[in-house]
Amino acid sequence: MTRKNGYEDNYPVKDSYKRHDPRGSTRVSTPRGYKTQEGKKWRIEQELPGFSLLDYAFRDAAYTANHQSNGEPEGMNRGYYSWSPLGVTHKPEDIPKWEAGSEETARVISKAARYYGALDVRFTEIDERWFFSHTKDGKPVVFEDAETAHETDEKAVYPKSHRWAIVMTVPIDYEETQYTPTPLFAAGGMAYSRMHILAGTVAEFIRGLGWNAVPSGNDMTMNVPMALKAGIGHLGRMNRVISWQDGPLFKICKVFTDMPLPQSPQADPGILEFCEDCQKCSKHCPGDAIGPGPRSWDDPPGSNPGAFRWPCDEEKCRDYWDQVGTSCTVCYRVCAFAKKKGPVHDVVKWFIRNVPQLNRLWAWSDDLMGYGEMKAPREYWN
Ligand code: SF4
Ligand code: SF4
Repeated sequence: MTRKNGYEDNYPVKDSYKRHDPRGSTRVSTPRGYKTQEGKKWRIEQELPGFSLLDYAFRDAAYTANHQSNGEPEGMNRGYYSWSPLGVTHKPEDIPKWEAGSEETARVISKAARYYGALDVRFTEIDERWFFSHTKDGKPVVFEDAETAHETDEKAVYPKSHRWAIVMTVPIDYEETQYTPTPLFAAGGMAYSRMHILAGTVAEFIRGLGWNAVPSGNDMTMNVPMALKAGIGHLGRMNRVISWQDGPLFKICKVFTDMPLPQSPQADPGILEFCEDCQKCSKHCPGDAIGPGPRSWDDPPGSNPGAFRWPCDEEKCRDYWDQVGTSCTVCYRVCAFAKKKGPVHDVVKWFIRNVPQLNRLWAWSDDLMGYGEMKAPREYWN
């Protein structure tokens, strides 16, 4: 069977698509909402399973490597995500920079990045549409013929020469995901910490080779289209990228560079078709945020308008986070692609890729087999 599998086929956007402005959200948490101290105290006093002081401390500490000493999360051009060299690696003057063909460069970067903690490593040419239009503090992000990325009082400058992106994933741990929606899901914070270390380290490696590098976590760009273009996976119904290798169990970071790299191929087709038939995340979403319908051009609330995608309402999702008092992530737990690695699941994935006529059977049996059921939070520490 031949299926269209170009990037624009997999993630079409309107010509009128506008770069995302991250300053848009004016959303305020409810008093007992997600990450509020009042909500934390109240839930501990209620003795809710999975919401003890022990569980909260476990989750909060997982963010450590993504936080500055003042407790604020790292972000664009801060900490290891600094646009300037950290000064850890130094190429001696008069030694020429390291150069190889783009395929060999990709092999070397991939090997180093995996050693530094990457789960998956892919490459793509940048697409300016996916860059945020502004920084969080309101400076326009502009593309100029500059040598290095830098900020002035008026603008943030991205150099046109930094044409390539190394898109990397870090793991969201399967085991901790089974305890969502409670703070025992420390895997999200741990992934942010891993992203910060990974992107900063890969950037420093590239700088040591004599090239420029700009590391980035959830800042600077929309990570979903970046990852789709790099061939990490496809956009699932739950509005997160799903890969054949890891399902939805990863977070995405990237390093931009002027070091030439190849374009990675698109992920094999089959995930979008499976999501048409599966709908398991829609059925189990406690916030009623994920619709059962097909992909469409209707812009769901809370998403940047202009893309053809699944009906997932990010505002309803965040309302539920406030209600439950933690990042929910039930959709990660129940996703039919979120599985421990093993030959049985590899066989099922082969069928999903090659015999989509059986998709409904797999989707139906996934629930029947009890995959994705929540584990008892009080058992975690045993
Ligand atoms: S995080 Fe929870 S509320 Fe949000 S979409 Fe996923 S399942 Fe629904
Ligand atoms: S649960 Fe099913 S429909 Fe939802 S994202 Fe996962 S595979 Fe797709």
